[in-house]
Parts: sequence; C-alpha cells; structure tokens
Amino acid sequence: MTLDAPNPSPNDTTRASAPGVDGLGCHAGRETMLAAAREAGAGETLARYAKDYPAGPHDQPQSMCPAFGSLRVGLRMRRTATVLSGSACCVYGLTFISHFYGARRSVGYVPFSSETLVTGKLFEDIRESVFQLADPEKYDVVVVINLCVPTASGVPLRLLPKEINGVRVIGIDVPGFGVPTHAEAKDVLAGAMLNYARKEAEQGPVQAPRTPRATEPTITLLGEMFPVDPIQIGGMLKPLGLAVGPVVPTREWRELYSALDCCAVAAIHPHYTASIREFQAAGRPVIGSAPVGVDGTAAWLDDVGKVCNIETAKVDATKAALLPAIRGALDGAPIRGRITLSGYEGSELIAARLLVESGADLRYVGTACPRTPWSERDREWLEAKGVRVHFRATLEDDVAAIDEYQPDLAIGTTPVVQAAKSRSIPGLYFTNLISARPLMGAAGAGSVAATLNAAIGNKARFEQMSEFFEGVGRGATSGIWPEAAKIPQSETAKREDGAC
Ligand code: SF4
Repeated sequence: MTLDAPNPSPNDTTRASAPGVDGLGCHAGRETMLAAAREAGAGETLARYAKDYPAGPHDQPQSMCPAFGSLRVGLRMRRTATVLSGSACCVYGLTFISHFYGARRSVGYVPFSSETLVTGKLFEDIRESVFQLADPEKYDVVVVINLCVPTASGVPLRLLPKEINGVRVIGIDVPGFGVPTHAEAKDVLAGAMLNYARKEAEQGPVQAPRTPRATEPTITLLGEMFPVDPIQIGGMLKPLGLAVGPVVPTREWRELYSALDCCAVAAIHPHYTASIREFQAAGRPVIGSAPVGVDGTAAWLDDVGKVCNIETAKVDATKAALLPAIRGALDGAPIRGRITLSGYEGSELIAARLLVESGADLRYVGTACPRTPWSERDREWLEAKGVRVHFRATLEDDVAAIDEYQPDLAIGTTPVVQAAKSRSIPGLYFTNLISARPLMGAAGAGSVAATLNAAIGNKARFEQMSEFFEGVGRGATSGIWPEAAKIPQSETAKREDGAC
C-alpha cells in the first residue's frame, strides 16, 4: 500500500484504543459502551450528542441501526465515497439495507481484528484506505463512519487529514449508544458537512452550483421529503418574491454552499440540531413547522414573511390565494375514523396535522425523535386539538396507545403495525405509505385520504382472519416447546429395542 502522508502520532492512536471492547455491540448495553468510549477519549463527542440528541427511556435503539441514517446521506450524494469502520455483522446489516433501498454503489469497509483494534493499527488501515480513495477525479469527499465498537475503543477519526489531493475527508462517530435514531444520524453527517462547507465559504470563493442560482432570495429546506414538496413550497414562495433553495441533506457537495447562502432555513424536520447550529453560526434565521394543511400553511407563511421582512399585505394576499385551494382539497378527501400514528422519521407531527385537518379522529402521535424548539408549534396545535403527543416514544408506548384508544387504523413502524394487526386492527407503515407522499400545500391535502380510508374499511377482513387463525402461533402451536416432549413409556421401550 502506498502512503505518502506523514503518520499520525502513534501515541494518539494507541492511547485511544481501549482494550476489551471488541466483543461489544448494541447488545452490550448503553452504559458499558459509553464508559468504554469515554475512557478511550470520545467523551467530548458523546457529551455533544447527549445535548443534541437527548436520550429517551430506552437505552438502545428500537429501530434500525442509527448509523444507517448517516450512511444513507452519504450514499445519496454525488461524488461521495462512504467507508464504514465497525464489526462485520453491523456492516453486513448496513450494506444489506443500503442495497435494499437502492444504493447502487459500493460501501467501503475497513475490517478489524482484536489486535488491530487494540494496537491502533485499525486507525492506520482506515487512513490508508482514505488515501487510496481520495481521487479528485472521482470524489469531492470521503466520509468515514465509526460504528459502535470503534467509537467505544476511541479510534480517532479526528486525526485523519482534513483534505487529500483536494478531496475533503470527514470522519464521524455514529454509535448506537450515543445517537438514538437513524433520523438523528442523518443530522450528524449533514451537520458535519455544513460545518466543513461553512468554513470553506468563510475562507474565500467556493464552487458555483450545478444549476444557476435563483435570482430571488431563497429558503433552504431541512429534512428529506417527497420530491413534489419542494416544488409545492416553491410555488408558495414565488408570490412573496422568494424561491426555494436546496434540501438538506443535499445531493451534492456544492449544494451545501447554496444551502448556507439563504435568507432563512425552514426546519421541516425539527430534529436537525447540529445542522441548525451551523445555519445559525452562518447568521441564518430558522423557522419550525411546515406548510401543511390550512392552519399550518398560514402560520408558516407568516413566519417566512416575518424572518424575510416581507410586507404583511403581500403575505396576506398570498394566503388568500393559496388557502382556499388547500381547504378545498382537504374537504374533497375527508378521512373518517379513529387513528393512532407513530414513526421514527421526524415528520410525524406534520403528517398528524394533515390528518386532523382532513377530519380524522386522531388520538395519539408518537415519534422516536426528541422534542425541539422547532416542533413546538406543531405540538401546541395538536394538543389544542386533543391529540396526545409523545416524543421519544418507545414501541411499548405506541402499542399501549393502540390498546388505550382502540383505533380503526394504526399507522406506525413495522412492529407497531404487526401489533395492531394481531389485534384485528388495520395497520399502515408510516415510512412507506405516509412519509413517501407529498404533505405540503394543496398536493399534500388529500394525498393520503384514499389509502387511509381503504385501510380503515378493511377492519372486517382482519376480524375474519383473526377468527380463522385463532390460536395459531400461540402456546403449543408456536413452534417453541418450553419443556421436552413426554414420550409414552411403551414408545421408549420400543426405541431401546431398536425398533423404529
Ligand atoms: S453499529 Fe449499529 S448494529 Fe452495530 S452494534 Fe452499533 S447500533 Fe448495533
């Protein structure tokens, strides 16, 4: 292997590697992993994560491995190489799910053994792989992600060169014991990239965007959303003399500069704490909530008008032009039934607002994400409508809500839907069926009604199925026998005789 850069201080790598952690993983327990990581020198990063992503009642992730969020952000960006450093089983799961979601590109992996982990050789192997990958013809940036074990053993990605041959290098720790959800892990990488790009922009001229910039001042959107949503938002901003800017996480490095060069940031997903810190450091005002439904759109346009100094008359005229169409779309597609909703994407509260404005009898919203200043308006609005809002909700909280409210439809994560169906209650997956649809403006109003009403109408089929399969998969039919089968004595004697 060719290495033409100076070696980092061996003290840094060997000091940082704590022995005895290579057998640990998400099964080891948060406190054990945290203690190991602190001892190995990752205390500062973990303290920042604890502040940015305050933990909930459960000490381990209840959804997929959180690192998937960071991995996905890197894999969706052009000219970006992503390298994982972690246990082979974790990397297998992460690459599997990446390709399941259509990554269509390689995920880099630097394997380790107990010896390379403890001696600091793993860090040198990572460093070597970064040098091999850093080809400016192919990449703008190489991202290295430390999973649980390398984070707990203090593999010091901060000592990687910041740039090699013009290719940026970003190393982040994304342990399951420090970042509670994959939604927040998206923010870990997006925030690190914004930090890097902001410092570049402060140094001097940066690369222009691929497509010409809008001539109007722009609003940057924070949080992954359905592709029609930014177009809808653009239509709402046009009469205000504004345009829609990039969506963060971006699809290309140079979009980060355009994202920073905005007049305001709309935190459509309110859990992007590290990214918001970078925008605020760049002097950009941030607004919460989103233009969903009539009330949400009206309040959001007021906020945009305020932070961008648009005359009130112009904002009022825009609302007068837009809101009747949204009202009409909502009224034209009413949702009839009692619903509970939960998820781990970060868009649960805005989706819930849309359901309430569509006439649904929504009783409960659970989100695996934490409460932040940017979700306050949605929380207040939902609670005023009698909806219980639960931040950092666990699977147990979501299932308890189903039992308490006995909904006609439970929208949630896979295990929540499974729990609902086992109770003869129709269920729909939030990620695939709600968050993968437009939510904003007139396109959002009514987009989910047909699916939800059809699911609610399936109640009788679920009851029929429950009746038909009653008892299957439980007790003696579950395939698990708590004690050895009792063979009749006559049968035992026959076997001892050698008879079949
Ligand atoms: S990296 Fe992910 S899968 Fe691996 S131990 Fe940590 S949380 Fe679990």
